[in-house]
Amino acid sequence: MGKALIIGAGGVASVCVHKCCQNSDVFEEICIASRTKSKCDALKEKLDGGKTKISTAQVNADNVEELIELINKFKPDVVINLALPYQDLTIMDACLATKTDYVDTANYEPLDTAKFEYKWQWAYRERFEQAGITALLGSGFDPGVTGVFSAYAQKHEFDEINYIDILDCNAGDHGYPFATNFNPEINIREVSAKGSYIENGKWVETEPMEIKRVYNFPEIGEKDMYLLHHEELESLALNIKGIKRIRFFMTFGQSYLTHLKCLENVGMTSIEPIEFEGKQIVPLQFLKAVLPDPASLGPRTKGKTNIGCIFIGKKDGKDKTYYLYNVCDHQECYKEVGSQAVSYTTGVPAMIGASMLITGKWKKPGVHNIEEFDPDPFMDALNKFGLPWKESYSPELVD
Ligand code: NDP
Repeated sequence: MGKALIIGAGGVASVCVHKCCQNSDVFEEICIASRTKSKCDALKEKLDGGKTKISTAQVNADNVEELIELINKFKPDVVINLALPYQDLTIMDACLATKTDYVDTANYEPLDTAKFEYKWQWAYRERFEQAGITALLGSGFDPGVTGVFSAYAQKHEFDEINYIDILDCNAGDHGYPFATNFNPEINIREVSAKGSYIENGKWVETEPMEIKRVYNFPEIGEKDMYLLHHEELESLALNIKGIKRIRFFMTFGQSYLTHLKCLENVGMTSIEPIEFEGKQIVPLQFLKAVLPDPASLGPRTKGKTNIGCIFIGKKDGKDKTYYLYNVCDHQECYKEVGSQAVSYTTGVPAMIGASMLITGKWKKPGVHNIEEFDPDPFMDALNKFGLPWKESYSPELVD
């Protein structure tokens, strides 16, 4: 049916490529393009021979001209951006210039300020609309499936949703004293930033890791979780009717936090460049280079993830509570696609989001967050492609 250009060849891209090949009726042809072409070629080698035709290319996604040239050559229906958030705007520029639909899983972030906001990408709204192309922002798990869950709850379960708590639990154990499950730089920037949540239309800021709760996760058990700032809070507060408060919690083990605190205290998580032996280096980028590659965690990680949303609101004048979540097993993911669950839970929705655009189910020129679309076909696809969801009408609540 269509062609996708996948940019990036890391943990998430690898899963997305596997899933495109499993959905070959939609993805007839894909091109995997990244900075390091050998990683693209390794993926092609693993998956070649199926119905989806695979090609590879080298591209520097910071360079708009290079991207335009590649898009003009391959002529994809959609570009799936699975590089890093720093490349969002250059890839969007190239999509605009070539009138190609765009999908990503993380919002733009300038290299020199760790701040997740949609304003840079929302500034493209008119230009995408005028070009008649669709940008689907945040088609991973969180953001991504959490937005689809919210749209589904709004459509089928509530007249108004007043409170949303997004709970992201990773109970996987990789056996290392310290490692991050996805790109260490992005991960550490996220968790060492101040926390925040939205209450009555306003952001409330907290110190990093200031708010802690213990939650008994279905199929996992009790875990410590901490309130973080997270990008989907900004769009959900606008797109879901009646929101009074929306928060995001993520679980962290004590060992992870102790290591992180120590690294922070010695300055290793800083994004300010320093001079070292005559060369400018960014401590956090150096730290990334010495930590285990997230892609190498797959074979070692045991346990499950549970990510979902608890909604509290009103239906037919009565109070109502509803919990939608997915449980994913690290080792089962590894068996299926050779990656652990954090990459899996992001790569599957990236493929599904792109398939919504290729099949025309979600065609809507402009720049849109995922909860602005009809959730039903996406929810069906989650069940079909390895992320089945579960629901509960009487979940434990977070105080
Ligand atoms: P990785 O670091 O494993 O992969 C990133 C890939 O992008 C690498 O192949 C890298 O190339 C490539 N890349 C980086 N810069 C450039 C560039 N300038 N030009 C071309 N290619 C480039 O990251 P992940 O796969 O873990 O994450 C991918 C994205 O998914 C990130 O944006 C992350 O924030 C997002 N994410 C979203 C989640 C969600 O739920 N929404 C959850 C987890 C991640 P090279 O191999 O040369 O380094």
